[in-house]
Amino acid sequence: MNVLVINCGSSSLKYQLINSDTEAVLAKGLCERIGIEGSAITHQPAGGDKVMEEKPMPDHSAAVKFVIEKLTDKEVGVISSLSEIDAVGHRVVHGGEKFAESVIIDEEVIKAIEECNDLAPLHNPANIIGIRSCQNNMPGVPNVAVFDTAFHQTMPAKAYMYGLPLEYYNKYKVRRYGFHGTSHDFVSKRAAEIIGKNRDDLKIIVCHLGNGASISAVDHGKSIDTSMGLTPLEGVIMGTRSGDIDPAIIDFIAKKENMSLEEVNSMLNKKSGILGLSGVSSDFRDVTAAEDAGNEAAKIALETYSYRVAKYIGAYTAAMNGVDIIAFTAGVGENTQRVRAQVGEYLAYLGTYIDADKNMARGEEVIISTPDSKVKVMIVPTNEELAIARQTVALVK
Ligand code: AMP
Repeated sequence: MNVLVINCGSSSLKYQLINSDTEAVLAKGLCERIGIEGSAITHQPAGGDKVMEEKPMPDHSAAVKFVIEKLTDKEVGVISSLSEIDAVGHRVVHGGEKFAESVIIDEEVIKAIEECNDLAPLHNPANIIGIRSCQNNMPGVPNVAVFDTAFHQTMPAKAYMYGLPLEYYNKYKVRRYGFHGTSHDFVSKRAAEIIGKNRDDLKIIVCHLGNGASISAVDHGKSIDTSMGLTPLEGVIMGTRSGDIDPAIIDFIAKKENMSLEEVNSMLNKKSGILGLSGVSSDFRDVTAAEDAGNEAAKIALETYSYRVAKYIGAYTAAMNGVDIIAFTAGVGENTQRVRAQVGEYLAYLGTYIDADKNMARGEEVIISTPDSKVKVMIVPTNEELAIARQTVALVK
């Protein structure tokens, strides 16, 4: 079976065509600047070169049309006709309390996703546009929604309730939802497999550290807590997001700087985190290079980041009354040796130690803790697209 995996942003569309039998990526690409002047598609067939073409894409439907064109193109295509796409799997950001697992999309599901728009106003509408575009361009092909929030729906109320008046939960469903669920699910499962055990017998902490970052406690196969909240702004420090702050800071800065609530919210999402702290970049390659060049703010930014990650690991070890595996994943978790080493310095109380040589690895599955370490620490590359393809096949087969 061939599954087209679609990840729609407000002005972008990422795609991968995956053969679910071999799990090989046949082709992948990205449509950018949809609805904006200068839109372009970048397409890469497996084993081939990337091709980039500027094409006017007034909306996501036009983008899906071009994706199909590229996939079936005589030169850079990988299938001969549309009939070779058996299903489409969509990443949908917010499923609210309605979706605890992936579902085949019908009108009722679209309506339910729309009802979650308030909770993810930038993402869910784009996801729905992507779904509609695929329905229009590929009639008869089943579409599946895979939610970023679904895996965390197993959290107990004590983990998802905020210390706010209950009426806001009752009226608006203000609570912790968590995100990156597809990745936390995939990585925790894989981490257990790596040590030849069943996830249902283990306590696992997954540190998904990418541009967005979240940590989860996966207790005997179920997410029981995670660091992102109502929105992806809560939790650890991220590339450009602040993570946890004293909520009173919002009012304080708004008054001092004469900023609106929207402006403060935008600052917390786009100008904070590692970018804001270091003043250098949101990219850890730039920030570690700046630290090496003697930049004190970059050094403090990285130390603050690692310290926050270590504190969450401590919290989730307490939440599960122990931990068997700590798994690092996503861009920073898989590649930034310095962050893993700094986090490791806080783990001695758990009898847990990182081997400096093994920690030089990047982007591969490897156990980086010492043989005598009580907790296995590992790098487990995430693969959200493959996870979406697998869940799509499981539903449409
Ligand atoms: P993600 O959101 O998972 O794609 O992660 C993106 C982030 O990972 C980038 O902003 C970088 O900070 C970091 N990253 C990616 N590749 C590397 C690398 N080779 N070395 C260090 N950090 C990296």
